[in-house]
Amino acid sequence: MLSKDLKISIKISRFANSTLKPSTLTEGILNDLFRIKLVIFFFFPLDYSVTSKKPLNIMRSSRQVRRPMHSTRIVIIGAGFAGLTLATSLKKIKADVILIDKSNHHLFQPLLYQVATAALSPARITYPIRDVFQKQPNTTVVMGEVSSLDKTQKQVFLANGETIGYDFLIVATGARHSYFGESGWEAFAPGLKTIQDAITIREKILTSFEIAERLNDPEKMTPYLHFVVIGGGPTGVEMAGAIVDIAKTSLQENYRKIRPEQAKVFLIEALPHILPSYSPKLALKAKQDLERLGVTVLTGKKVTAITEEGLYMEDIFLSSKNIIWAAGNQASPLLVTLDLPLDRQGRLLVEPDMSVPGYPEIFVIGDAAHIKADNVPLPGTASVAIQQGKYVAKLLSKGQFSLNRPPFLYKDKGSMATIGKGKAVAKMGNLEFSGLLAWLSWGLIHIIFLVGFRNRIRVLFEWLILFITGQRGVRLIVGNIDKDLPKKS
Ligand SMILES: Cc1cc2nc3c(=O)[nH]c(=O)nc-3n(C[C@H](O)[C@H](O)[C@H](O)COP(=O)(O)OP(=O)(O)OC[C@H]3O[C@@H](n4cnc5c(N)ncnc54)[C@H](O)[C@@H]3O)c2cc1C
Repeated sequence: MLSKDLKISIKISRFANSTLKPSTLTEGILNDLFRIKLVIFFFFPLDYSVTSKKPLNIMRSSRQVRRPMHSTRIVIIGAGFAGLTLATSLKKIKADVILIDKSNHHLFQPLLYQVATAALSPARITYPIRDVFQKQPNTTVVMGEVSSLDKTQKQVFLANGETIGYDFLIVATGARHSYFGESGWEAFAPGLKTIQDAITIREKILTSFEIAERLNDPEKMTPYLHFVVIGGGPTGVEMAGAIVDIAKTSLQENYRKIRPEQAKVFLIEALPHILPSYSPKLALKAKQDLERLGVTVLTGKKVTAITEEGLYMEDIFLSSKNIIWAAGNQASPLLVTLDLPLDRQGRLLVEPDMSVPGYPEIFVIGDAAHIKADNVPLPGTASVAIQQGKYVAKLLSKGQFSLNRPPFLYKDKGSMATIGKGKAVAKMGNLEFSGLLAWLSWGLIHIIFLVGFRNRIRVLFEWLILFITGQRGVRLIVGNIDKDLPKKS
């Protein structure tokens, strides 16, 4: 039965606004009072768990110590686009919201490729989750990995064995890349999902140029100057365009022996077209733009093996020390522990209201959920995740816990992909366009959705520098390259 406390209607504030509103004087005073309360609780701790019917040992440490304020507890796992939007939209709900994430930061994945290609520093596309909720007293942030879920006992288990009980649970744990059962490929072809992935790829790309410069034999240099991106979706297209830009512009003057423009960038796609979710006309435009930049686009080619030396497409071998995987996704493994039907990508088959079959108090949203619109599964995009976060927030806030909940309806706001400097493809409803206008629209939308005012200003500034000078400022190699150099015989 729905708690009375939950029957409060809130205005669902916009994603960005809700995290960035300047505080008013009253808010500031209330916030100070709240902090004082926290300090008192810290020095004179009570057995808070007595007031809560669910086990929550984790709440009894450091500054997180707090008396549960309400009788209803909403647990959200994952502070990505879906979970963060949901949690910020619950700002005024009369319930305790617990947001758990294994990272301490929200990550803006659409700009990960710019970190991987040394255009932006990791801090520009991440934002501390705690900062987002600093002024949201009903929300507690827990940094920790959830290892399993018990849907009958209504409990969440953390990797260290601690448990958190819930009245409502929202799983928004996203997806990882999948290697179609070939897990051994990951070591030679890292994917791009986390900030660590981006740093690894950046290091690999920059190190390759350094190693090539140290080698005198052109044949030995070749695999280091071959950059291969597998997967012709938006991420693959953006990566390929950016790598060619590094090689041809940013590093051009830096080397004495190698000429970075000699580097070859390949984009491999198993389907007949790149950007399969776009119209064939726009996909062809993107392919032509990439080829004009110097990317070799190989469509209809299936990768059959990946080794330390390169990859095979059936019997064709392409040598490369730089292979980047942008081909497949697999939903978070946590979903398996719910023991409910999943699709082939491991996404949970949710009901039209995003709840899981038979458990109306559990929702799965974002990349972790499989839901259809017009009989086609919705894509794993930030826009879908944000809309689902807002939708569930509305259900919780309006107290729609009967079985007559309105279904989730997705509004397609379009999609975009950049293809190097000043070029992009975009589709919005029936409208499709490309070139500079698409590129400017892409930039504007990404800036708007970045979390954190400082991040927006800095990214804008860094893009401006990149656009004018072609210089990529974050060319850091932290590893020792000598271990990767062929030994002199
Ligand atoms: C390189 C790249 C480029 C992209 N470009 C675009 C684009 O241009 N436009 C677009 O719309 N979409 C884009 N996407 C897709 C978009 O980023 C995702 O659809 C979106 O992030 C999904 O949001 P989510 O909240 O479901 O998951 P995520 O954003 O992945 O968030 C999941 C969160 O759950 C946490 N988590 C996972 N497992 C656990 C656990 N067991 N315990 C605790 N916490 C856990 C993670 O740390 C993470 O914070 C891109 C994705 C990538 C990888």
